[in-house]
Amino acid sequence: MIDFKALAETYDTPLYVYDFNHISEQYDKLKKAFSGRKSLISYAVKANSNLSVISHLAKLGSGADCVSIGEVRRALMAGVPKYQIIFSGVGKRDEEIKEALEKDILLLNLESEAEMERVEAIAVQMGKCARISIRVNPNIDPKTHPYISTGLHENKFGVDLETAKRMYIHANNSSHLDPVGIHFHIGSQLTELEPIREASMIVADLVRSLKAIKIDIKFFDIGGGLGVVYDNETTIEPYDYAQAVFSTLYGLDVTLICEPGRFMVANAGWFLTRVLYEKVNEGKRFIIVDGGMNDLLRPSLYNAYHKVEVLGKSGNESEADVVGPVCESGDFFAKSRLLPPTEPGDLVIVHSAGAYGFVMASNYNTRPRPAEVAIEDGQPRCIRQRETFEDLIRLETMCL
Ligand SMILES: *Cc1c(COP(=O)(O)O)cnc(C)c1O
Repeated sequence: MIDFKALAETYDTPLYVYDFNHISEQYDKLKKAFSGRKSLISYAVKANSNLSVISHLAKLGSGADCVSIGEVRRALMAGVPKYQIIFSGVGKRDEEIKEALEKDILLLNLESEAEMERVEAIAVQMGKCARISIRVNPNIDPKTHPYISTGLHENKFGVDLETAKRMYIHANNSSHLDPVGIHFHIGSQLTELEPIREASMIVADLVRSLKAIKIDIKFFDIGGGLGVVYDNETTIEPYDYAQAVFSTLYGLDVTLICEPGRFMVANAGWFLTRVLYEKVNEGKRFIIVDGGMNDLLRPSLYNAYHKVEVLGKSGNESEADVVGPVCESGDFFAKSRLLPPTEPGDLVIVHSAGAYGFVMASNYNTRPRPAEVAIEDGQPRCIRQRETFEDLIRLETMCL
């Protein structure tokens, strides 16, 4: 059990706490599920990009899926081998492409013909051959049942199957492009298997048709998106996930790449915040805490559910909103939850805060971002200090 009270006393609040042992368990579960084939787990760095988190995963053998050159630099700094780093994302600047090619990472994931032209031109300038993969949009609705799903070409990600094929043929004929991979990612917080299996089948069919014209794809990247329990969702078992994908890969000798973000870290993290005071407005109860939407944005941004607990208190529960001090009505962590009476200083634990938590934090309202603490084998370690006021104004100049 994690001693949240002691951590809050030592490191103050608001605070992020991560259980590195849980991250290891998640990694092992997934790696084991994919053990029937060559596979690379490529952690989606955007979910939690603290250097210690990446380096912990790197030590377990994880690669990194990055969506900016900054994330690529983090991954390299944290010890991820360059041949396990992927650079994805719908828009990349020339300098980012150039640096990725210089750093000789595993591959660049491309999302349009225009992007491929840019990458090819830059590879020509550099006298290099760029290893690429193409993100295909298999047009699957990740939420509804696949047999009633309609066209989903409305989002900005990836290219359709026809375009992908044309791109592979072009790349294969270019001496500066090496089309080594194929990629799809149908959504996040997936809790149903069938859309994944169906998407995988569509993409595997494309790989088989490329193979028929002597274009040999080595990396089959199924993206991330594996869901986790925030409330009472039923989720996908890693074993079933792997089996569903494997069942589509007949006739193909590919290395499987999977890019989990949330699955690795969401339930390894908690956000700790203290009660400042309570107030009642015309019968509506508010618990006001010292953390705000600037620290943990998911409830405000997505109306996301996070389990909330008042440490060491129970009984006499009544409905309350847990809100922060930021000057926005959208500044809340929980709405209409049954919670016990609180006193100033009580600790509120917001669960499942390890993914898309700190990484989305901002300095809105001139609030320094929280510290981050990692626990491994019972030992806490500060992996990012709390920001100070000086940190916040460091880059500003006052015009007098
Ligand atoms: C965001 C993203 C991921 C990770 O998604 P999770 O839902 O956190 O697993 C993986 N791959 C790509 C391309 C992404 O955009």
